[in-house]
Amino acid sequence: MDASHQVVIAGAGPTGMVLAAELTLAGVDVVVVERRPSAELDGSRAGGLHSRTIEVLDQRGAAERFLAEGRVMQSHAFAGIPLDISDFPSRHNYSLALWQRDTERILAAWVAELGVRIVRSRGVIGFDQDGAGVDVRLSDGAALHADYLVGCDGGRSVVRKTAGIEFPGSDATTMWLIAVVDMEQEPPIGVRREGGGIGPVGHDDGRGPYRIVLPGPPDEHAAPPTLGDVSEALVAAYGTDYGVHSPSWISRFSDMARQAASYRAGRVLLAGDAAHVHSPHGGQGLNLGVQDAVNLGWKLAQVVQRVSPPSLLDTYHAERHPVGARVLRSTMAQVALNVADDRHDALRATMAELIGMDEPRRHLGGMLSGLDIHYDLGDGHPLVGRRMPDLDVQTAHGPTRVFTLLHDARPLLINLGAGELAIAPWDGVRMVDAAYDGAWELPVLGAVAAPPAVLIRPDGHVAWAGDLSDPELPRALASWFGTGPLESAAA
Ligand SMILES: Cc1cc2nc3c(=O)[nH]c(=O)nc-3n(C[C@H](O)[C@H](O)[C@H](O)COP(=O)(O)OP(=O)(O)OC[C@H]3O[C@@H](n4cnc5c(N)ncnc54)[C@H](O)[C@@H]3O)c2cc1C
Repeated sequence: MDASHQVVIAGAGPTGMVLAAELTLAGVDVVVVERRPSAELDGSRAGGLHSRTIEVLDQRGAAERFLAEGRVMQSHAFAGIPLDISDFPSRHNYSLALWQRDTERILAAWVAELGVRIVRSRGVIGFDQDGAGVDVRLSDGAALHADYLVGCDGGRSVVRKTAGIEFPGSDATTMWLIAVVDMEQEPPIGVRREGGGIGPVGHDDGRGPYRIVLPGPPDEHAAPPTLGDVSEALVAAYGTDYGVHSPSWISRFSDMARQAASYRAGRVLLAGDAAHVHSPHGGQGLNLGVQDAVNLGWKLAQVVQRVSPPSLLDTYHAERHPVGARVLRSTMAQVALNVADDRHDALRATMAELIGMDEPRRHLGGMLSGLDIHYDLGDGHPLVGRRMPDLDVQTAHGPTRVFTLLHDARPLLINLGAGELAIAPWDGVRMVDAAYDGAWELPVLGAVAAPPAVLIRPDGHVAWAGDLSDPELPRALASWFGTGPLESAAA
């Protein structure tokens, strides 16, 4: 293992792997340090991918790998109240049922093909940073030097704690046990309120062992949960434990809702669960982490390659912290709606009535799917700050899709009109002349005017839209994609 890298990532969960892929595509020397000995994940955890996550994978040409193994369905839900987003203008206006262990296996194979190095069976235990870089200490006594360290090391992040980043929020009100077990008698399958809107009993993988979700012992730091705890929880809910036996996984989760006060401390950044923890209601955690990674990857690449100043990294916090805060609020509301008593039942029924109406459905569907994300990049065309739609366009090389043009994770200027622009100073920006005569429609917002040209960031969000003669265009190019090599990339 080389001792010096441009970027060290702590944690090869979904967030760390996607970030490593983004950095590798941009030509950055990155290494991932992971405690687990292999990509294998015990238990099931996240149940699938939401629409925008499938889109960002599609932007890199990787979505098919996941679609081939998962089950496409309308499973976005708010507090268990189903939401159909099949009328949203996206190629992926659905969610994909795919257990996290499969998502991680597919991600691990993809990043291996890209050449990402993952150093396994050791963890990051501490670091020191100064103006010249970060010295990272590993559990086997080795040390790594990096320009930047990113903590993708989950909710109990050592990186976050070592950086001294505050983690304010709400303590857990409920602790759930989650287990994969066999049973001697057949239990009733389905979601009931004591399963917190997630369980209590389903089949793992649609067959085979049972997946149990039930309230468990309250203290998060108590000893690891046991089969006895699962048996007690089943008896409390059903009056019998159905002869539960042979657990292959027993874990717990809570509705603790906390978010890092800052996603950056100098040369150290946080992404995924390291930056935010919340209950799994709405199934957003993994999705949020993958989208953090796609927002951060190209920015960090440009900073370590001295295309952009370190201040570009502050836009990562500015853009992603509000998205995380909104997810925390939504999960807290969903936990509250699932409280099992008459008044909460009434509140939930009222909410279900509202979700049956078109505008609330679109509003919540836009949030849960991640398709309505709007970074505040200033005034201008309604596309600015929003995700670029995956249009079918005609180019000099034939028909293609906008997402295909983003596969190499480079900034993209699409000229859809008659204007011309010399973009030599921004040689990292790809310019494509294209024709498109279809509708421009955004999820939740609806139809927008067709722009003559769009500048798209590698994460698929629109940085500028307008006429090529617009004086804002060179300003947008300079502020997002640099003005040439910088003398120094000091933090
Ligand atoms: C029951 C349950 C259901 C869920 N359902 C959903 C769902 O349906 N949809 C959804 O989007 N999300 C869901 N989630 C949330 C999802 O599992 C997490 O949000 C997601 O795993 C976060 O990914 P991550 O890569 O940020 O962190 P993690 O998956 O926690 O990965 C962190 C990685 O870092 C490693 N690590 C930790 N410390 C160190 C260290 N010091 N050094 C090196 N490596 C380290 C760990 O071994 C791990 O591999 C669910 C969670 C639970 C518990």
